[in-house]
Amino acid sequence: MTQIKVLILGGSTESAKLARTIATDQRFAATLSLAGRTEHPARTPVPMRSGGFGGADGLVHYLAEKDIDALIDATHPFAAHMKQNAVEAARMTGVAFLAIRRPAWAPEPGDHWTEIASLEEAATALGEAPRRVLLTTGRKELAPFKRASQHFYLVRSVEPPDPEALPPRAEVISARGPFTVAGEKALLEEQGIEIIVTKNSGGTATSAKLEAARALSLPVLMVRRPALPDAPSAETVEEALLWLERHHEAATSTRRGV
Ligand code: NAP
Repeated sequence: MTQIKVLILGGSTESAKLARTIATDQRFAATLSLAGRTEHPARTPVPMRSGGFGGADGLVHYLAEKDIDALIDATHPFAAHMKQNAVEAARMTGVAFLAIRRPAWAPEPGDHWTEIASLEEAATALGEAPRRVLLTTGRKELAPFKRASQHFYLVRSVEPPDPEALPPRAEVISARGPFTVAGEKALLEEQGIEIIVTKNSGGTATSAKLEAARALSLPVLMVRRPALPDAPSAETVEEALLWLERHHEAATSTRRGV
């Protein structure tokens, strides 16, 4: 049977799901690539590699060296550099390419969102008066909030932040989604949270906090997504799987000389 080599650029729920889905499928030999931001990433049953490639040129080199047939960008919606590099490397090599672009969250009736461009803007938008803030923006991006030190921050991240990076009034919760609406509501109430700061990651794993905020009429500062390069894309893992299957069929026909 023809087997095609697939490189999945990961760091998202979708990349882990896709890796799990094709791990035992003999048509595909997949490798999952992670940036290496998380010390203990969720384990997947396909070979993993970790760390940058060295820009688009480095990725081009890797694709050639490993003889990759198909490249899937399933990075986090905010990983704009890697997404750009993937598009460029696919163009330079001609390797079959698909980006999984998860739809962004959109406000619903009853939401009190302010959409903003950056975490710096979020820190400013919190205002002068001290507030109790739920911060779910990632453990490596706390600097703007360290400067807005009048607020109390409940910092939730997959792995705990470096204590040096924390604002002076902060408490840390280390947790990985998916979260439930009931759990999020209880957390917001118990902690007396007055406002949520989050990035517009989209997806269901971490969206319960938005439903909980709606139920409690809490305001949300929502960081907009970065601009992303145009790319052939799918919204879900299921669509990406269909794309891979079509690519496999085409590769099988070509190798048979059909
Ligand atoms: P980025 O700014 O797009 O990537 C920076 C560099 O990291 C890339 O140029 C690449 O280095 C390397 N890299 C990123 N993803 C990679 C992958 N899957 N495999 C190999 N190398 C990879 O992305 P970021 O620095 O990871 O994060 C940017 C934003 O995304 C942040 O807001 C972060 O909170 C959010 N985010 C990222 C992840 C994640 O797993 N990366 C998860 C959740 C949230 P080279 O140029 O050297 O190849």
